[in-house]
Amino acid sequence: MRAGAPAGAAGKFPALDDFRLVAVALVVANHTRSAEGQFLWLLTVLRRVAVPYFIMVSGYFLGRDGWRSTGRFLKKTALLYGAGVLLYLPLNWYAGQLSPDFPRQVLFDGSFYHLWYLPALLLGAPIARLLSRLGEKKALLIAGGLYLVGLGGDSYYGLLPEGAARLYDAVFRVFTYTRNGLFYVPLFLLLGAAGITLGRRVSLAGFLVSLSTLVSEALLLHGAGVQRFDSMYLSFPFLMVFLFSLLLGFNQGERREVRRLTALVYLLHPWCIVLTRRGAGAAGLTGPLVENTVVHFLAVLALSLLLSHLLLLAPPPKPYPKARAWIELDRAALRHNVERLRSLLPEGCALMPAVKANAYGHGAVLAAKELNRLGVRAFCVAAAEEGAELRRHGVRGEILVLGYTHPGQVPLLRRYHLTQTVVDAEHARQLNDCGKKLRVHLKIDTGMRRLGVPAEQKAEIAQVFQLRSLRVQGVFTHLCADETRGGEDEAFTLIQAAAFCEVLGDLRKRGLSYGRAHLLSSYGLLNYPELGGAYARVGIALYGVLSGRAGLETCPVALRPVLSLKARVASVRDLRKGERAGYGFGYTAECDRRIAVLTIGYADGFPRALSRGRGKVLLKGTEAPVVGLVCMDQTLVDVTGIPGVESGDIAVVIGASGQREISVCDLSEAGETITNEVLSRFGARLSRVMV
Ligand SMILES: *Cc1c(COP(=O)(O)O)cnc(C)c1O
Repeated sequence: MRAGAPAGAAGKFPALDDFRLVAVALVVANHTRSAEGQFLWLLTVLRRVAVPYFIMVSGYFLGRDGWRSTGRFLKKTALLYGAGVLLYLPLNWYAGQLSPDFPRQVLFDGSFYHLWYLPALLLGAPIARLLSRLGEKKALLIAGGLYLVGLGGDSYYGLLPEGAARLYDAVFRVFTYTRNGLFYVPLFLLLGAAGITLGRRVSLAGFLVSLSTLVSEALLLHGAGVQRFDSMYLSFPFLMVFLFSLLLGFNQGERREVRRLTALVYLLHPWCIVLTRRGAGAAGLTGPLVENTVVHFLAVLALSLLLSHLLLLAPPPKPYPKARAWIELDRAALRHNVERLRSLLPEGCALMPAVKANAYGHGAVLAAKELNRLGVRAFCVAAAEEGAELRRHGVRGEILVLGYTHPGQVPLLRRYHLTQTVVDAEHARQLNDCGKKLRVHLKIDTGMRRLGVPAEQKAEIAQVFQLRSLRVQGVFTHLCADETRGGEDEAFTLIQAAAFCEVLGDLRKRGLSYGRAHLLSSYGLLNYPELGGAYARVGIALYGVLSGRAGLETCPVALRPVLSLKARVASVRDLRKGERAGYGFGYTAECDRRIAVLTIGYADGFPRALSRGRGKVLLKGTEAPVVGLVCMDQTLVDVTGIPGVESGDIAVVIGASGQREISVCDLSEAGETITNEVLSRFGARLSRVMV
């Protein structure tokens, strides 16, 4: 699977998307019932969950990015509506509806009966977005108020006093169906955006109770003969919230093709009704195919699905990740490393993998989701945006942002349930001043002099616990000389650990509960596991690598590198003696040479420092040195001694080929840096696959 690709993989249950199929079938059922079939009147009410459901999923997705995509959503809806209007013009014409009133209908009502939904969205979405600026609670209250007003013109119409009824009539004169855009769409959009989850049992019980309430309400109002329309009921929003919460509870991943399919079925089904009726009439099958409501429904649904499916048949090209240059992650190696590192964990300590910098270039979503599957329930990242990205792709568990976060990003932290590090006393005040409850871990500086409140400043540290908006759930420090045991390194590390312990002791003395305390990262866990803590924030070691060659021998567990990097041979060419190649004549052939052009360059993170033979790749199990200067998108290598190299071959930049292997360490040494830097600079243009 490609990092960033929609997670529709096997084993997933994208309940939100899948339920669209049920919803669209309900819409078709509503429109294929026979006019006289009033005995099924009650079912019609229940089938009405379909439209609010569609509205709620739209709201859910709009809300997920803070309504930023509202513009795009409106554009898409308008386009769909435009297509719908055109599509149904022949039927409008046939039904004699192209009267002078038609433009008003197009603007306010939908040009064909089922199309009301789209202009209603076009009206309701901007209203909901505007309301959302007031904050969730206020927005819901106002939208709820609008809904109550709308009820008066709908199921409760007959209960209105004379004057009020006249007022509603005036509204209906302008817009009949799209009044819902004002009274009903905003509430369901906002309820969807709220994404309320109540747990499966509560949702199910709530769903059943509100369903029976709805039935009673509908029966009462129907019996009293007060309904003008029957699309709005008091108990309806409750039913929808419970239904939606139930589905959200199961929702995993997404299925975009269902979205497109159901949109098309929605758009096309009235045409299919007409076609089915015409076809049945022509074939003399009106009895079984039209008058039998159930068969009619099934025939229309089948035809709509078939037509929509045919229209969608030209699928978007499948991603082909191994086309140019790509990273392969070795699932088994990652699992192995997790197991080995877990075996080192001190009592009560859990792994908190560092998946910052795109998981050290490995692909954060890909890695974190796999780690989730291995039971990892806590992660750390450097930036709030990195945490948000993980959440958007469904990564579960605690996500701690290790770096500074500007107060302007507090809404992002809250939206994605991220835990923020307080990097010093001033930062604590800034975050607190936002006035929004935030989960934080407090960082203590015990000697690195980078981030954290200095360990000596006990009073300042304790003060952070008094800040009303901050819920301190952890305290941590970072060791900066833990790469070896013994000597100055060990002495300094122990001083850091002691200073940290002293802070914890002081907090306990003051009666402040600080939650989880942690200080180990990769080298800390490998060299000083006895220092303990609630988390080990393991980065580089998890990926089966150490920062440099030192320490490899003394490493207490055998780790396996997770990443390999490959690129294609774009072209092979021969150079005559004396010919030059590359920018600035970076290379001159001393004798006849054959060179291969690789599809990877420094923009992909292949260091330019590896130019002129400092770097090598493997082709057919043989080393091929870099010639000339590494370019942005390409690199030349010498393949003179390697027979049979041709365009399309795979060059191994990191990893094994035949008997040979190139490690990240080889690369970082040749580039005079550490593995962390080489890995974390692997670019966004590389595709990433788990193998
Ligand atoms: C990056 C980072 C880690 C992980 O470090 P590794 O050495 O890769 O294990 C842990 N803690 C903090 C504060 C970090 O910034």
